[in-house]
Amino acid sequence: STNHQMDEAIKLILQYNNIFIASHINPDGDNIGSMLAISLALRKINKNVSVLKSDVLPEDFMFLPGSHDIQEYKEELGPIDIFIVVDCSDEDRLGNNKALLSNAKKVINIDHHISNTMFGDLNIVDPKSAATGELIYKLIKKMGISLDIDIGSNLYTAISTDTGKFSYESVTSRTHRIIAELIDIGVDFNTINLNLYENMSIEKTKLFIQSLSTLKFYEGNSIVTLKITKEMLKHAGAKMEDAEGIISFIRKIESVEVACVLKEIEMNNIKISLRSKRDVDVALIAQSFDGGGHIRAAGCSINSNIEEAEKEIVGKIREVVR
Ligand code: 5GP
Ligand code: MN
Ligand code: MN
Repeated sequence: STNHQMDEAIKLILQYNNIFIASHINPDGDNIGSMLAISLALRKINKNVSVLKSDVLPEDFMFLPGSHDIQEYKEELGPIDIFIVVDCSDEDRLGNNKALLSNAKKVINIDHHISNTMFGDLNIVDPKSAATGELIYKLIKKMGISLDIDIGSNLYTAISTDTGKFSYESVTSRTHRIIAELIDIGVDFNTINLNLYENMSIEKTKLFIQSLSTLKFYEGNSIVTLKITKEMLKHAGAKMEDAEGIISFIRKIESVEVACVLKEIEMNNIKISLRSKRDVDVALIAQSFDGGGHIRAAGCSINSNIEEAEKEIVGKIREVVR
């Protein structure tokens, strides 16, 4: 069980000293917040902790306590006693840090994706958790490490961002109890919310406006797609990470059940994000393209040009929506 795996993980953590933490590429609030929260907690019990960068870190999250300690792996960091991988459904999602899995004495996989491949020596995987941050909270509490504002700010960010500000159906009373405790210890949620949600750059705003001209509807307006090309980024002076959030905006449209955003990473490398509202399991759709995720939020990649990729993904979504 998850509880048993957590007990075993705690034994390992107490036994070893050099702990490495990493997570998935295309970072988000849950994986960054989870990595930082567990790293700060383990440093409080004097562990030698390295938090590894798997990908470019979005500027938006650099306000988080500990974020400036995230670094590229290098051998000088020493032997990897324990490799804690958070919020990461499979090994490939680790990017370059995947290679470290075989260097580590023990791998602890902490995640909430239903599609998790259980690649760890220990697997604390609970799809009922609304965010990996909830599992990290539980682990920290179980270890008897006291929460503080820095740890709490990271947990708040992890949980808020992965639950659409505590609104998705993944949210439970436990989610709210954790957040209540964070507020009780003094986490400044107002400032965090301003940093996370009221901080849109002009470049991102321009990108949003441009990309909205590519909106397309299918199946009685129940499917909506939007495209973000490299050309648009150049034009808006924006980065691909600025596309974050556009998908939740187009999902708001009344008739929409499935929203799909296609991002042109390279000419023939299209990153696809999927969101659903009520009925459709988008994780299943993503899995049919070797991706994964959650019932209401998932993603995958298609190696063709953006128009072809759109045809392919819409074809698949149509089969499910019909
Ligand atoms: P996003 O659309 O924000 O990139 O991702 C939504 C969800 O789907 C996240 O939980 C993320 O972990 C998952 N996801 C996105 N892309 C992929 C992918 O290529 N492979 C897998 N396994 N999961 C993905
Ligand atoms: Mn994530
Ligand atoms: Mn997550």
